[in-house]
Amino acid sequence: MFSLELKQSDQYLLLFAACLITKGHNRALLTDSQRGKFDLIPNDMLDFIENAKRYSIKTLFKIYGEENSEIVESYVSYILENEYGFLADEKIRHNFPEIKIDWKSPSTITNSIIDIKDFEHTKTYYERIISQLNALQCEALQIRSYTSLHIEQLQYLATCVQETSIEYLEIYVKDHDELPLDKLIRLLQEHTKISNLIVHSASKNDEYDVIKKLSSIYHTTQELTDETCCGLVEKQYFNAVKDHYMEAHFYNSCLNRKISVDANGILKNCPSMQTSYGNALDTNLVDIISNEDFTSAWNLKKDFVLTCQECEFRYICTDCRAYVEDPENRYSKPLKCGYDPHTNEWSSWEENPLKQKAIEHYELKNIKRILS
Ligand code: SF4
Repeated sequence: MFSLELKQSDQYLLLFAACLITKGHNRALLTDSQRGKFDLIPNDMLDFIENAKRYSIKTLFKIYGEENSEIVESYVSYILENEYGFLADEKIRHNFPEIKIDWKSPSTITNSIIDIKDFEHTKTYYERIISQLNALQCEALQIRSYTSLHIEQLQYLATCVQETSIEYLEIYVKDHDELPLDKLIRLLQEHTKISNLIVHSASKNDEYDVIKKLSSIYHTTQELTDETCCGLVEKQYFNAVKDHYMEAHFYNSCLNRKISVDANGILKNCPSMQTSYGNALDTNLVDIISNEDFTSAWNLKKDFVLTCQECEFRYICTDCRAYVEDPENRYSKPLKCGYDPHTNEWSSWEENPLKQKAIEHYELKNIKRILS
């Protein structure tokens, strides 16, 4: 209930510095980049939030008039009840500077993907790549095995990153009888750098926290057959934490400072992309990073991408440059996104008649079958 006392307050309503707003075509997104959560708000509320920085609550009610009193009450209540903002006295309200939109990283490469189809083949270059990723201060590695691996093979993959800069290791592996939960738990307890272990093609979905909020095992019935499974844009993949939100203002939210090795040992921006930059057996990663063609993908931020540039989700969404709506246009919207920022509706991208040509171009008929 909105009190009369608050309505006549001389205090100012300020958003917490970590609460950041992205204006979209029809509506806006309020991202709480500290708590990693987000909420949709009307675009009209943006003017109100700007005015609230300049005028006390009492003055805001006067400015908006009696006819809009209920709307002002709802905006103030919404911000306070959801802890997106706070009330500050005149004397101290300038002591809360806004957060600077900025992103920096000390790492030359921040993240990497290594795909596995044949473990013995990957083993011929795995240690060489890990050593080079370490020299480039890589922080996160995702290993995606499309086939089953034995526990000893998983141990080998994790042991090699033990004494390196890699802090977060995420492993996808195909389910089989020799990967019971107790063995997997032991693996994660012994290798604390494994943050997520995802067992795909499993008989049921479940999740198990090995160390709360630090390492988990997931079983999913979803099949991961090859790199064409990647690039899905869905709400569940949105990332509202500050680092991602900031990085997306300046760089591509998937490819920036990434280097990948596909299942054949070919070095690429991402395993799903076509362009090869050499072989993991004999090409040095530093040489690839000095290639401007390779790093140009890093700078392709969402504000440059058609449709996405008008979308309220653009700084929490992960981009995909491997599968786009128009394969001839590098600024084209990700193919596997079913969201329309003009209607604010999600629909099935696989069924969209306008996307069928691109689906055929990328030979994604299989993925349609897997997802249905
Ligand atoms: S339109 Fe673009 S920014 Fe919006 S959800 Fe889809 S891919 Fe993400």
